[in-house]
Amino acid sequence: MRGVTFLGERRLQLMEFPDPTPGPQDVVVEIQASGMCGSDLKFYRASGETASLGLGKVSGPVIAGHEPCGVVAAVGGAVDERIARIGDRVMVHHYSGCGTCAHCRTGWSQMCVAGSTVYGVTGHGAHAPYMKVPAHTLVSLPDELGFATGAAISCGTGTAYQALRRMNLTGGDTIAVVGQGPVGLSATQLAAAMGARVIALDVSAERLARAEEFGAHVLFDPRSGDAVAAIRSLTHGAGADKTLDTSGTADGRLIAVRGARAWGAACFVGEGGDVTIEVSPLMLRKQLTIVGSWTFSTSIQADCARFVADRKIDVDRLFTHRWRLDQAQEAYRVFDRQTEGKGVFLMH
Ligand SMILES: [Zn+2]
Ligand SMILES: [Zn+2]
Repeated sequence: MRGVTFLGERRLQLMEFPDPTPGPQDVVVEIQASGMCGSDLKFYRASGETASLGLGKVSGPVIAGHEPCGVVAAVGGAVDERIARIGDRVMVHHYSGCGTCAHCRTGWSQMCVAGSTVYGVTGHGAHAPYMKVPAHTLVSLPDELGFATGAAISCGTGTAYQALRRMNLTGGDTIAVVGQGPVGLSATQLAAAMGARVIALDVSAERLARAEEFGAHVLFDPRSGDAVAAIRSLTHGAGADKTLDTSGTADGRLIAVRGARAWGAACFVGEGGDVTIEVSPLMLRKQLTIVGSWTFSTSIQADCARFVADRKIDVDRLFTHRWRLDQAQEAYRVFDRQTEGKGVFLMH
C-alpha cells in the first residue's frame, strides 16, 4: 500500500509500505477517513520545530495522519471479540503506551510514564488505506456518525471538547475562543451547543465568517483593535468567564489571559511556542485559573462522539476540502495557507 510521509520543509511523498498484518493484540483498520490536523503542519513544514512539541524521536519514514476512522478489517488472535470484531466501525485513540501505568489504565496513554507511540508522528498513521494498531486504542464510532466526523473527533474536535470540559464550561458562561482554525471552530460549535455565549476571535475574515455559521454570537478580528477591550465591553467590563487559546501564539495566549474575568479560567490548547505573563496583575489579582489541555482520553473521545451524535452537531461541515490520497501534495499546500477550513482524505 502507499502512505503519505512528511519529508520536512513542506515536502511530502507517497511511499510504498507493506500491507500491515495484525500481531496477537492488534487490529488492522481499513481507513475510511483520515483528517488533517493543524499540528500536522508543524511536521509538514519543518524538522527543527517539531522537537519543541516533545513527542519523541522518529526513526525512518512514518505514515502521517493522526485522525483515523474506519472499519476493522483484521483482528489478532489474542483480541477479545468484545473489544474488536471484523466490520466494527471505529475511531482510533491515536496513542499507545505501556498499558499498565496509571495514565494508560485511565485511558490517557499519551501520558504514559514509559513514553507513548503517537500514531501519525512516531508510529504509522492513517494517511494510508490500512493502519495497524493495538486493539485497546479503538473507540467505537456511533452508528449515527459518518467516518469524516469520526476522524475529526479523533483529534481536533475531541481536543476542543476536552478543553471545554477541562474548564467546566456551562450554558451560563460567555467564552472567548481565540483562533478559529479547526480546533477553535470546533470549540465554537461545541460551546454554542452547550448553551454558552461565544466570542470568536481570528485574524482571518474567512474564518470569522465560518465561526458565525458555527454558532458564534460575536466576531472580532484582533488586528482591527484591542481584543481585550472588546471582550470586556461585551461582558459589562468584567471579561469572559472562560477563555480558550487555540492559536498557540504569544499574542493569542495573552488575549486569553487578559480577556478572562476575575475568578475566571483561561485554557491553552494550541501547541508550541511560549508566552510571558505578568503574574501579579494578570493572574494573582484576578484569582485566575490557567490550565493546559492536551487532547483527551479514550473514554472522553467516546463521550465526545456521543455528545455530537445526541445533539446532531454537524461536525462534517468543518471539512471544506475532501481529498483522495493521491492528491496529498495539493491537500497540504491548501491546508498550509491556514485561511480555509479543515481537509480530510476519504479512501473510497
Ligand atoms: Zn503507560
Ligand atoms: Zn491533532
